[in-house]
Amino acid sequence: MNSYYDNDASLDVLKGKKISIIGYGSQGHAHALNLKESGMDVTVAEQKGGDAWKAAEEAGFVVKEAAEAAAQADVIMILLPDQIQKIIYDKAIAANLQEGNTLAFAHGFNIHFKQIVPPKNVNVIMIAPKGPGHLVRRTFTEGAGVPCLIAIEQDYTGNAKDVALAWAKGIGGTRAGVIETNFKNETETDLFGEQAVLCGGSAELIKAGFEVLVEAGYPPELAFFECMHEMKLIVDLYYEGGLSRMNFSVSDTAEYGGMSRGPRIITESTKNEMRKMLKEVQDGSFAKEWLDEYNSGQKNMDRLRKENREHQIEVVGAKLRNMMSWIKKK
Ligand code: NDP
Ligand code: MG
Repeated sequence: MNSYYDNDASLDVLKGKKISIIGYGSQGHAHALNLKESGMDVTVAEQKGGDAWKAAEEAGFVVKEAAEAAAQADVIMILLPDQIQKIIYDKAIAANLQEGNTLAFAHGFNIHFKQIVPPKNVNVIMIAPKGPGHLVRRTFTEGAGVPCLIAIEQDYTGNAKDVALAWAKGIGGTRAGVIETNFKNETETDLFGEQAVLCGGSAELIKAGFEVLVEAGYPPELAFFECMHEMKLIVDLYYEGGLSRMNFSVSDTAEYGGMSRGPRIITESTKNEMRKMLKEVQDGSFAKEWLDEYNSGQKNMDRLRKENREHQIEVVGAKLRNMMSWIKKK
């Protein structure tokens, strides 16, 4: 795999270009502010009169509606929620693309699953930070950055990769390291990772552990600390030095108990289920289900959100976090 750092990228290909960032949410505010502070000419597009529109204006941006912002831009980065991108692209962006423009994304969903099919005479690139937008912003202000993936789907101008690297540098990504991939690999691994491990797998593991302890009569406060709060401390150890660092740092009792019992939780049947989920990602059936869900009013999404919000671990957790002065309230 090719990887790139600050010295491998030059901001010059973006200097003097008109950049429009469509969407000023988690990723949008971070890309817009970081690029502006890297000397770029950035316009933001948002929904007129919304909170995000106001926030972007307060941050000193010229804010326009998507069509107008797209029409004036050389480089258009779409940082809207994935399920909305096609709607805004069809309505406001497609007709405003000019030959040689660059269309950019932070996740491959809409290009890979052919929701957005750009004309052949533009560049199509991806710069995908491997972290939430607020971290992309915070690390940048601290002089560091979040690692990014870049990918080139269409290289019409012949320098699409230089543009992607310049963008990655402008948001701080090359300070941490940039890896080149393609839209297919980024999209499929990203969706699988968030479903099986990061968001889906970890949340269900935490809830199940909590429920078993509470069912057995233990105080919910203890169950919260054991099953949710301490998760961060363990994940920090993985982040610093992998399984070895985690096992080195916990007690021998925890290490033996974990290694001998863990495989009873994640069994071959769990892995088989993961393989099925990966298939649903690869064959596009997950993407179709999610877009249908969104376009038919998000009833399942709302129900699932409500169930999670009302789970006992959330109630207990909110109370305990209030008592922990070191957890900054957001
Ligand atoms: P958010 O949901 O945080 O932000 C989306 C923004 O789009 C909001 O400010 C919203 O404004 C705005 N918006 C919604 N509808 C419209 C509309 N009709 N017209 C104009 N603006 C609109 O998105 P994310 O930053 O999470 O995601 C953006 C992209 O980045 C996605 O492709 C995602 O996969 C990718 N990504 C996200 C990561 C993350 O950590 N969040 C990590 C890596 C990639 P309003 O508030 O007014 O509704
Ligand atoms: Mg992701």
